[in-house]
Amino acid sequence: MSTSPHQSRRTFAIISHPDAGKTTLTEKLLLQGGAIHLAGQVKARGAARRARSDWMKIEQQRGISVTSSVMTFERDGITFNLLDTPGHEDFSEDTYRTLTAVDSAIMVIDAAKGIEPQTRKLFEVCRLRSVPIITFINKVDREGRACFDLLDEVADMLALDVCPMSWPVGMGGVFEGILDIKSGGISRPEGASKEFLGKIDHGAALPDAVAEELELAQAGYPEFDVDAYRAGDLTPVYFGSALKNFGVMELIDAISRHAPPPRPQPSEQGMIEPDNKEVTGFIFKVQANMDPMHRDRIAFMRLVSGTFKRGMKLTPSGLGKPIAVHSPILFFAQDREIADNAEPGDIIGIPNHGTLRVGDTLSEKNDVRFTGLPNFAPEILRRVALKDPTKAKQLRKALDDLSEEGVIQVFYPEIGSQWVVGVVGQLQLDVLISRLEAEYKVEAVLEPAPFDTARWLKGDDKALREFGDFNKMSLARDRDGDPVFMARSAWDVGYQQERNPDLTFSATKER
Ligand code: GDP
Repeated sequence: MSTSPHQSRRTFAIISHPDAGKTTLTEKLLLQGGAIHLAGQVKARGAARRARSDWMKIEQQRGISVTSSVMTFERDGITFNLLDTPGHEDFSEDTYRTLTAVDSAIMVIDAAKGIEPQTRKLFEVCRLRSVPIITFINKVDREGRACFDLLDEVADMLALDVCPMSWPVGMGGVFEGILDIKSGGISRPEGASKEFLGKIDHGAALPDAVAEELELAQAGYPEFDVDAYRAGDLTPVYFGSALKNFGVMELIDAISRHAPPPRPQPSEQGMIEPDNKEVTGFIFKVQANMDPMHRDRIAFMRLVSGTFKRGMKLTPSGLGKPIAVHSPILFFAQDREIADNAEPGDIIGIPNHGTLRVGDTLSEKNDVRFTGLPNFAPEILRRVALKDPTKAKQLRKALDDLSEEGVIQVFYPEIGSQWVVGVVGQLQLDVLISRLEAEYKVEAVLEPAPFDTARWLKGDDKALREFGDFNKMSLARDRDGDPVFMARSAWDVGYQQERNPDLTFSATKER
């Protein structure tokens, strides 16, 4: 049976609350998968060496850490692309957008804590796009909450069917291993530090209490159904310990067997199938240089269809004329012979000087526009005040740049000279201030703005003009010059909506 190369791709992210164990699990996944990015132990050949030295050069010279944004590893003929979601307590648009570029996610939960606020928020973003989720209940080597408790919490809080695929044999001090429910095999801890060293005990007798639990679990939860999982309605649940390396192989197996290969992506022209010949993709992240001497950036493109080849000409939707992608950064797995190609599901890093923006579509024929990479209505709005008023020009440049990158949104009021920035999380404001200083030598402070949220306005010229006549103080333009209503409160939005039925007040803007 011959299949397209993209059938072997699994592009996924890990979502979790800080401290649940995402970093530890990532390390273990990469180790088991033999990722090439670990300390460069793997010898590269020919084209692979050339290309790899490209990105190493870029990393060293420009101080951009691109490797941690995309981690690629390979196992049993499957190529895994793990995209990093920034792991802050605070929510940022960067995280939202990274989740638009994956086909599935692993949700890591601390067995002692259950679902935490950030887990929930990230889950909701996945749900918006029906991203299928595999649940990993971590840290079972320590005393945690009862398994049923945890399973029911996932089911109730997230309104998902849960299906336990494995079961811990004891937790904490009495932890004896993990049982694979289907095969009945138990992986047991071995060695001085009681880590998993790779032996599975088949047909072992279970302690009575565990056998009883298992019977209850099998009667109480639905059976695994791959279609329900892929539709985002059911989550298979694995127990384990990232630290002690329990249940990690099972997770890799689960992704390779159940997680979907690259999914078709929504566009204005309909769903774009990965099998389409035309090379298309979209930018989901732009990373600026950490070295202020270099103004260049890396745009991360998720390939949606076609086989990308180095040097290929693609047209970015924001530019309208083709660019040649000569020095793309490809993220290699161990044994890729043809290292100059990328397949649907793969991520390509494209160095550029600000031409590529988050949300841009790139295509060979300039005939596709991907949708679903929205800007989100900001939840925090602040006025930007300069300490040195002569720096207005630098500030404007900085705000434009940073809004292109998706760090903040910027609004230029129709009246008055105080520019307003909008974010969805506090952390974005901290990043803004420190980058203004470090990269643009602009000292600024953020002051409260009399606005609570913002809405993009759509309507004909007449309706917009009439609205503006009454609400000049609340009108602004965004980075693209599109009209925005800055509202004092959510109530204000509802009120204006009712009074202006010819206008739409949109909480998101798709580029
Ligand atoms: P992140 O913030 O989600 O990336 O979490 P980390 O991977 O940094 O882990 C947070 C803390 O939990 C660290 O001290 C880890 O050593 C610890 N940790 C992670 N996984 C496990 C586990 O399976 N068992 C135990 N006991 N500790 C763990």
